[in-house]
Amino acid sequence: MEVFLVCQSCGAKSLLKDVGYRCGCGGLYGLSYPKKRVDFAKTAVSVERSLYKYIDALPFDAELTPWKGVSLGEGGTPLLQPEEDVFLKADYLMPTLSFKDRGASVLMTMAKALGVKEAVADSSGNAGTAVAAYGARAGILCHIFAAASTSPKKLEQIKAHGATLHLIEGTREDVARAAIEYTGERGLFYASHVFQPLFYEGTKTYAYEVFEQLSFSMPDIFFLPAGNGTLVLGVYLALTELFSWGYLEKMPQIFAVQAEGCAPIAVAFAAGEAGVNPVENTGTAAEGIAIAAPARGTDILRAVRATNGSFFTVSDAEIYDARAALARMGLYVETTSAASYAAYLQWRKREQAVGMRVVVPLCGAGLKG
Ligand SMILES: *Cc1c(COP(=O)(O)O)cnc(C)c1O
Ligand SMILES: [Zn+2]
Repeated sequence: MEVFLVCQSCGAKSLLKDVGYRCGCGGLYGLSYPKKRVDFAKTAVSVERSLYKYIDALPFDAELTPWKGVSLGEGGTPLLQPEEDVFLKADYLMPTLSFKDRGASVLMTMAKALGVKEAVADSSGNAGTAVAAYGARAGILCHIFAAASTSPKKLEQIKAHGATLHLIEGTREDVARAAIEYTGERGLFYASHVFQPLFYEGTKTYAYEVFEQLSFSMPDIFFLPAGNGTLVLGVYLALTELFSWGYLEKMPQIFAVQAEGCAPIAVAFAAGEAGVNPVENTGTAAEGIAIAAPARGTDILRAVRATNGSFFTVSDAEIYDARAALARMGLYVETTSAASYAAYLQWRKREQAVGMRVVVPLCGAGLKG
């Protein structure tokens, strides 16, 4: 199958190969390949338990099964229903304990198929862990860049998978800069969950699964965390696909969630801006969504607006309360992960939400931090 990178700024189209994550003009890449309509009646009863049951809409040749040596059985997470019209998607039950497995599996499968031997990624923790795990499975040596302040459990997990950990003193942006520099100097594959459009091909399966689990319908609202927006953009991609395939009569709304201490996209949304100005991270307990300068900020704003959606900001106190409330339901999630549920609780307090179906993700496991 021929897979192309398409520059979202200048439209230049190039065959996907092992290096290059950004167009010469500075634009970000989208992906183009012969995608087929998913037959959900079939996937709902598929014996394939991983997200590769959606192979018709993934950038791989089904006959070649390139994911076989890479997949860890990610996908197919439970959709819990604690109360009427409220659904919690338990993505913390993934092989590396966060939703990042969806994207990392697709990205590292392609990396292996392209013959990549060594890769670099930067992360606030969970994306790096997922890349390290799928890299280990694929036989790809991984360099993971993370801030020195990252929760120790995440760093331990990255090292356990055999990746070389590069700890950087400084902000999340300093970490990304160091990784990109290292990638360029050595001509390595940049396994970035932010820049590589392949990652979103994986995260979109989150929405495919919800559609199946709600008996081939969508909720009214998707609450989603927004740091770099890999789940927001993946879900939006899935929604546009489902819409174009005739599965949806109306678009569900995306309610994106940021932490008060670092909310550049929410600020831009409220101001009616088309792009996102970087902010200073003034501190938040939600380390996984504390992205002061999101590279795909413009795309995230566009996606949320296209669904007639909205932004929520939550305080650390709200996050801790939400985390405790989830734990008392038997759901032990990481601090960052509780931000989405905190936004849901905020919304419910404010709105007459009768009859609105909402899906809230549980993105990462509590043992991570
Ligand atoms: C990565 C992550 C997020 C935020 O995802 P983005 O792609 O940065 O928007 C939220 N929660 C958890 C647990 C994560 O690992
Ligand atoms: Zn370009």
